[in-house]
Amino acid sequence: MIDTLRLTAEEALGLIDSGEVSAAELHAAYTAAAGERNDELHAYLRLVDYDGGAGVPIALKDVISTKGVGTTAGSKILAGYTPVFDSTVAARCREAGLSVIGKTNTDEFAMGSSTENSSYGPSRNPWDPSLVPGGSGGGTAAAVSGGLAPWGLGSDTGGSIKQPSALCGNVGLRPTYGTVSRFGIVAFASSLDQIGPVGKTVRDVALLYSIIAGRDTNDSTTVELPEHVHLPVSESLDGLKIGIPRQMWDLAAIEPGVRASFEAAIEAARGLGAEIGDCDLPLSYDYGMPCYYLIAPAEASSNLARYDGVRYGPRVDAPTYREMVESTRDAGFGDEPKRRIMLGTYALSAGYYDAYYGQAQRVRTLLIREHREALETFDVLATPTSPTVAFPIGERASDPLAMYACDVMTIPSCLAGLPGLNVPSGLSDGLPVGLQLIGRQFGENTLFRAGHALEQALGFDGVPERLR
Ligand code: GLN
Repeated sequence: MIDTLRLTAEEALGLIDSGEVSAAELHAAYTAAAGERNDELHAYLRLVDYDGGAGVPIALKDVISTKGVGTTAGSKILAGYTPVFDSTVAARCREAGLSVIGKTNTDEFAMGSSTENSSYGPSRNPWDPSLVPGGSGGGTAAAVSGGLAPWGLGSDTGGSIKQPSALCGNVGLRPTYGTVSRFGIVAFASSLDQIGPVGKTVRDVALLYSIIAGRDTNDSTTVELPEHVHLPVSESLDGLKIGIPRQMWDLAAIEPGVRASFEAAIEAARGLGAEIGDCDLPLSYDYGMPCYYLIAPAEASSNLARYDGVRYGPRVDAPTYREMVESTRDAGFGDEPKRRIMLGTYALSAGYYDAYYGQAQRVRTLLIREHREALETFDVLATPTSPTVAFPIGERASDPLAMYACDVMTIPSCLAGLPGLNVPSGLSDGLPVGLQLIGRQFGENTLFRAGHALEQALGFDGVPERLR
């Protein structure tokens, strides 16, 4: 019997290598688990037949183009769209033998923090199905913690890997900007979008990162990694300097249970030999959100211009070209992409460009600088990943600002292009709390080392209590 709730990808690889289990049997086990629980969790939008891969199966967020397999980005405007090519990350997974189990649910065009903006209905949190799994990558996070996949890939623009990983009790990495190809990814905001791994352990996440990372000639923003990925082994944090941004405590919205779990994790780090100190990010928590909500919609308004009914998805016919495009976009996009297209188009319009988009870019430069300064003293920065645990489906769905506030902790380092790792730190009222570790540019190995040591010390059980 394969216990899909507990088996890590590394253990699965061991079973394949020793001949105890075949890749086909593993794929069948996860497909069977999806058969049991996907109706409830709605983690997958689409399951995929076993393709003969000899490795560990994987779940892919539905913004990742897969040759011959539908890819919708959670939007009706891409309903029925089947890519004729693989994205680079999908191709790298296949080359490594990973067979795709299914395409996971996402907020439409990855815009959201709960998956409630998916045109195909929300995903649910395996710890409590009345709650959101976070977003936008809630489908991948729910698949991993619900035992429907050993690991998966998400995309993160302002928190869409880290935040759902926190709310579902997974490990998730948003890599350094430029380390993972976006070729074949449905674009949201190109100066921010990153692809990254989600898994049950830091070692699994490091392993998957090593499979997908590195220069791709099809994405000119990518670079070769300056050093190899090391699978972490050390359980000591001797000499590691961890900085805690003072200003984040001014955010009244950090729940007491989240704060308690965070403080316990920091004490554990101290016990492992880390040096803990306060650092300053004076602008990040005040200006990170407004800056992000100008830059991301501005880039989205440009990226989403291509959905015009000519090339992709369903078309609404009309007498003139202009009316056809208007009615296709009106019918195809949901409220959140429309809101962002309007905001972004306004921010980029002549006469306002410099006051909004230009100003946001200048603020972004200041955020980059203040992160760099903090990381001159400290090896990693630590915050809670999300100010709250998972919240009820429907609670914030009609309040865009409350939804945007989910990402107040994750957005600043995304704007700075820095890597961030979510590691589960414990439970608050029976629900997972995530610790966010932010590293230097290309500092993934340090994040893996710190995350692994803390994971061992904290001993978090990632299987949802109701499924144990
Ligand atoms: N929740 C944020 C937003 O809605 C971030 C989403 C993401 O990282 N894709 O833009």
